[in-house]
Amino acid sequence: MYPQDRPENWPSGQGLWADVPPEEWNDWGWQMRHRFKSAEDLSRLMELTPSELEGCRLAGTRLSLAITPHFFNLIDRSDPECPIRRQVIPRAEEMTSAPEERIDPLGEEHHTVAPGLVHRYPDRVLFLVTDRCASYCRYCTRSRLVSNARGYHFLPEYEEALAYIRAHREVRDVLLSGGDPLLLADEKLDHLLGELRKIDHVEFLRIGSRAPVFSPQRVTPELCEILKKHGPVWMSLHVNHPRECTRELAAACERLSFAGVPLGNQSVLLAGVNDDAETMKSLVHRLLMMRVRPYYLYMGDLVQGSAHLRAGVRRGVEIIRALRGHTSGYAVPQLVIDAPGGGGKIPVNPDYVEELEDGRLILRNFQGRKFAYPMEPSVPHKAESPCSCGGSGNCG
Ligand SMILES: *Cc1c(COP(=O)(O)O)cnc(C)c1O
Repeated sequence: MYPQDRPENWPSGQGLWADVPPEEWNDWGWQMRHRFKSAEDLSRLMELTPSELEGCRLAGTRLSLAITPHFFNLIDRSDPECPIRRQVIPRAEEMTSAPEERIDPLGEEHHTVAPGLVHRYPDRVLFLVTDRCASYCRYCTRSRLVSNARGYHFLPEYEEALAYIRAHREVRDVLLSGGDPLLLADEKLDHLLGELRKIDHVEFLRIGSRAPVFSPQRVTPELCEILKKHGPVWMSLHVNHPRECTRELAAACERLSFAGVPLGNQSVLLAGVNDDAETMKSLVHRLLMMRVRPYYLYMGDLVQGSAHLRAGVRRGVEIIRALRGHTSGYAVPQLVIDAPGGGGKIPVNPDYVEELEDGRLILRNFQGRKFAYPMEPSVPHKAESPCSCGGSGNCG
């Protein structure tokens, strides 16, 4: 499917905006100002389906529509089922609701300890620093607050959140998310990271961001300097499909890496986007070529109006089985279900353990071949002495 998977062959360039001066195109502010925000904007360049037209019309009451020109270029406009299109152009199905779906599928509101601060795990916190993103993913787990289309009026209280972290010495890991932390101005991000670095029990800082995917232009030398200054700062990207790996994203990842930012990726398993082994394999291989380690593959959170984008658990497990052993271990993400209601991330794995037999595990390898391994180390027998002294030591 992707025979010559060299970065030279990945999507690149200004595409439909070839006539825009490169200094404008390469400015992330320009990308933000020229986002597609309505059916009218999109219809100027492509034909929307009736379902998409309705989805766009109602997006303003659920989760706003926004698509950067960089990301729009990746859409195959002649294909109504284009995997890039499905992620960012709303459909009428978003207005439906399945019984298992929730507005706050992960029960984050219950674990909110300060405005924008979610403390669920013993030693780490999730710090939501904005409700804005460069573009909006239609399956967003935080659509209750992100983009403010539902009038949540999310207002993070940085000082209150920082005070909580300062007072809770068990917090050694702070994850900045949102919305997208990279939508903050450099000065604001610099200030936040600086304040967090001053707290001596905070060991580990990370940022979850899709901005480099939607607008690689965001990764400026100035941003890299800030991340370097407060480093080590880790970053988790959110890339779902191999076509999102543009040469511009690869260059952005290189700048981040060279600034000392270790990169991971969190994908969501999405129906019609990446729910087949071929696509996922191509994605994880491209990620490794960009120095990005696939971290998690999420089953879709049960957020309202996302049923048309969620794939089944069986499919997820099949995909992991198709990767494990068949390609580099570094390329295989951990499949997880973020437990509905707020139980945290739970790993879901293919079962390689067949049975327990005579104190031995019977295992199947990636090819389906059988192997055994003892459950516990057995008591070793005294080895037969290889020399004539019979173990007395008299042989010198
Ligand atoms: C995902 C998440 C984290 C981070 O989890 P890791 O498994 O350490 O990556 C922390 N807090 C919350 C609330 C989360 O949802």
